[in-house]
Amino acid sequence: MAKDYYQILGVGRNATKEEIKKAYKNLAKKYHPDLNKQEGSAEKFKELSEAAAVLADDEKRSQYDKHGTTADQFGQGFQGFDFSDFMRGSDFGFDFDSVFESFFGGGFRRGRGPSRGSDLRYDLEITLEEAYKGTAKNITIPRLEKCEKCNGLGAEKESDIVRCPDCNGSGVVRRTQRTPFGIIATTTTCRKCHGQGNYIKSPCQECNGNGVARKTRKIEIKIPAGAEQGTNLRIKGEGEAGEKGAETGDLYVIVHMKGHDVFERHGDDLYIKIDIPFSIVALGGEVEVPTLDGKAKLKIPSGTQSNTIFRMKGKGIPYLHGYGQGNENVEVVVEVPTKLSKKQKELLKEFEKESGRKGFFKRILE
Ligand SMILES: [Zn+2]
Ligand SMILES: [Zn+2]
Repeated sequence: MAKDYYQILGVGRNATKEEIKKAYKNLAKKYHPDLNKQEGSAEKFKELSEAAAVLADDEKRSQYDKHGTTADQFGQGFQGFDFSDFMRGSDFGFDFDSVFESFFGGGFRRGRGPSRGSDLRYDLEITLEEAYKGTAKNITIPRLEKCEKCNGLGAEKESDIVRCPDCNGSGVVRRTQRTPFGIIATTTTCRKCHGQGNYIKSPCQECNGNGVARKTRKIEIKIPAGAEQGTNLRIKGEGEAGEKGAETGDLYVIVHMKGHDVFERHGDDLYIKIDIPFSIVALGGEVEVPTLDGKAKLKIPSGTQSNTIFRMKGKGIPYLHGYGQGNENVEVVVEVPTKLSKKQKELLKEFEKESGRKGFFKRILE
């Protein structure tokens, strides 16, 4: 299902940037995981941040307005923004670093529950041809995965996990100390179980009781046609393994575009400059133009001036969201010949006489 960012923030489609910021600030306070310990608040906060990051950015907002949806078939939650950009200059007054860190690594703890696995980010460069057709890429990522030997348990068997005798399962140890200032009580994380409350009598030898192990994994990534610089693909569950019983993180693939020798790309439109002989612009004719789908024929009407731009409809990049595709814009540059045969010179002199414009081809004929 496509997400409605306006609805998520509770603002109208014409909301100003100030209104969006205000709405986000109010809701973020309510759902910030540091302030709201309820189940699902972190997810809600992430959703809010996602919506605000898109709507607070003019370019991303207009793109979102235009295309309307997110490419769910590719597991993509949102598209084309950089959290660090969004954070710079934000005046929301939260410690966003720690929160955004939790989106792309780190992970924050909700209460005493097991931590979700970290999200991973992978920067992937693709060619214009690949963006045109869509592509699949094999990438290799190092990540923490659930230990296969103990299935994430960390122990040889369930009965090897016992309540920590030092802290009696609470994960913390209270100490009282008599000092010159009186009796001071301190609470510290239990050293024996590292605050887990449990203690493994005989840890799994494969993972040393961690339940996770670092692996190098090859994953196939499907890049949809229409992907562009900054397209952000979320691949659910392909991040790092979490603590026992916790959700696995996600993998975010950020698309980067390689430059192209022939075409320039602006949004879904392509731009190309081609040289055509002056006889064709004078008489009219047809030329062959390269497209990302082979050569196409372009009609040149007689009398076409240099630097005229022709639009070849539907020869551009397919829309990432929805049906249809951009255009290819062809700028024609009239080629003035530098060398002429004797016969060509005679013909042009004849032309000059006929048109009565002395010296029109003087530069060429000399
Ligand atoms: Zn293990
Ligand atoms: Zn303990």
